[in-house]
Amino acid sequence: MGSNFNIHFFGTSSAVPTKERGLSCLTITYENSMAFFDCGEGSQRSVLGAGLGFNKDCNIFITHLHGDHVIGLLGILQTMAMNRREKQVGVFGPEGIIDFIRTNQSILRFGLTFDVMAREVKPGLVYDEENSRYRVFAQKSKHSALSFAYVFEEKEKPGRFHPEKALKLGIPEGPLWSKIQHGESVKSPKTGKVVDPKQIMEKPRKGKRIGISGDTRPTSLLEQFFKGCDVLIFDSTYSDEHQENALENLHSTSREAAMLAKKARAKNLILTHFSARYRRVSNLVRQAREVFPNTIAAKDFLVYDVADTS
Ligand SMILES: [Zn+2]
Repeated sequence: MGSNFNIHFFGTSSAVPTKERGLSCLTITYENSMAFFDCGEGSQRSVLGAGLGFNKDCNIFITHLHGDHVIGLLGILQTMAMNRREKQVGVFGPEGIIDFIRTNQSILRFGLTFDVMAREVKPGLVYDEENSRYRVFAQKSKHSALSFAYVFEEKEKPGRFHPEKALKLGIPEGPLWSKIQHGESVKSPKTGKVVDPKQIMEKPRKGKRIGISGDTRPTSLLEQFFKGCDVLIFDSTYSDEHQENALENLHSTSREAAMLAKKARAKNLILTHFSARYRRVSNLVRQAREVFPNTIAAKDFLVYDVADTS
């Protein structure tokens, strides 16, 4: 793990788990926070196995309410409670997500040691807080249940601050530096001139964007939504040979994932959610690479360094 911005794949199989692949779950760790995207059954075991722990700031985003994407949520919440977590957890998902949590909590009679802030999402911005370093957007995807795709967006990073330039312009270390770092112009106490942050700081650096499709057919709406993503993680349930199944079950083939990545001008494509019929997915990767060379296949416990991508 080279940086503090990684994607951890925990479940990369569709519908049923295999010996090598668990059910849909991935986690983006960023500085001191973690964001889950789907929690198939058994997710918490993989997270613990990877040594990630559950004590970070945490939000959980669910793409749709099919069991293989959401049943593991209960286990994750229970494991957090066993660890006496106190920090609130945000859970975001389609209509029904609040009922799913409340009903199971009441039937299973499990108490939690922390608050769950559950929200039903609509297309648009679904998560942003002043102190958070990232935001999350949702868009409708096309599947057999009400289903959302998400974009995880790292917030813009302030450019480098040059103390020597500040001092040269007569601005002493202290509250004025902090104002400049927050983008405010200040008056130099020495020269009386107004100093623009641009004179002291470099340009802000654009944050990285990660797209997560969930289960879906490729659509033009998603193509727009994923425009320019640094990393696109896309439904790749089938190979060319099973195109019919993709149409029938509202999933995508690896080639279709690649075509969408190309049209959206994504920089990197990661295929996931493979049908359990494929023991090896090299054929799916090959078919995708014919269209979009920058493609890899996810596997359980793969850690992908986002800071390293270009
Ligand atoms: Zn699925």
